[in-house]
Amino acid sequence: MKLSLAVLPGDGIGPEVIEQTTAVLEAIGSKYGHEFVFSEFLAGGAAIDATGAPLPQKTIDGCQASDSVLLGAVGGWQWDHLPGSERPERALLGLRGELELYANLRPAVLHEALSQACPLRADIAAGGIDVMVVRELTGGMYFGDRGRRQGKYGEEAYDTEAYGVGEVERIARTAFDIARKRKSHVTNVDKANVLESSRLWREVVLDVAKEYPDVELAHMYVDNAAMQLVRDPQQFDVMVTTNMFGDILSDEASMITGSIGMLPSASLGKSRLGMYEPIHGSAPDIAGQDKANPIATILSAAMMLRHSFDLETEAVAIEQAVTTVLNQGYRTGDIMSAGMDLVGTKQMGALIREALG
Ligand code: NAD
Repeated sequence: MKLSLAVLPGDGIGPEVIEQTTAVLEAIGSKYGHEFVFSEFLAGGAAIDATGAPLPQKTIDGCQASDSVLLGAVGGWQWDHLPGSERPERALLGLRGELELYANLRPAVLHEALSQACPLRADIAAGGIDVMVVRELTGGMYFGDRGRRQGKYGEEAYDTEAYGVGEVERIARTAFDIARKRKSHVTNVDKANVLESSRLWREVVLDVAKEYPDVELAHMYVDNAAMQLVRDPQQFDVMVTTNMFGDILSDEASMITGSIGMLPSASLGKSRLGMYEPIHGSAPDIAGQDKANPIATILSAAMMLRHSFDLETEAVAIEQAVTTVLNQGYRTGDIMSAGMDLVGTKQMGALIREALG
């Protein structure tokens, strides 16, 4: 395959973790016979400094013309004084909108080698954790009708949760398709005992499930799901849910794995063009010091190979290389523990490439 990737290093540690990730992709390319053509574009604070805007049109055009997008991170104290609409983080929202990315995938994987980082009891974490949260990204309360008005208790504010059939169908299909690449189990998370929007959501998920007789479907109310994630996370394979519930549950799922530097994410739309990025921010406190953990971004590239290009073998090769390096005892500062070998960003990247063979 010849694949053109738009690369948005962004700010802070973004360029450092991206450098290691493109190098890993090059290694995958030469091992499996693919050619990756990288085109760099500005986003976030770097774009504000160069052009005055966090998401220049040139970046949008470059992303739209590519096969997929790889992003580092954006933001930093230099731009904290700017009003919300002009801040680096606006680039993320802008890209999701421009690229029509409606599904956010957040895998939470606890590597056995890092089990001491898990805040859950050892017997619960034993055997590892591997949950994929599929969150609807462009609808629901965060985008619904909102406002202020006079109410019984004085001024009141409201936000509206509304979902249309087509919106739920497409996110449900995303979840079922992903489950087929995993353990073929989907847990639909809603609040159908209270919310009308959840009742429609559940009806549509049940309808879509008929297209996937090979995938097992369960339903769970969101409050119970929050409890079950810490009580027995191994019961979950894919969880699918609304924008707001997913926002909360994906962070909860991340925390049970214990390390922000390890967690990738993907935002997908209807074409294969997706945006892949680590869940962490630009970490200005360690930027430029060769201290950042590049694994979250490297694993985001593995997700890109799997979800945008159906290159499962290559994705697994990257994931296994990461596991190998962790099992060998190498750690960046964020995941360091007694008796392990401390390495920097560059060396971690080099070790992962070496493990690829
Ligand atoms: P952060 O994720 O950047 O950092 C939180 C803590 O985790 C810091 O101590 C940092 O050093 C550490 N950390 C994060 N990633 C790491 C890695 N790969 N390796 C080792 N340690 C790592 O969150 P923050 O400090 O709240 O935000 C910093 C900036 O990033 C802000 O401007 C914020 O708005 C922005 N941000 C951007 C994104 C994004 O680009 N998607 C996400 C979150 C925050």
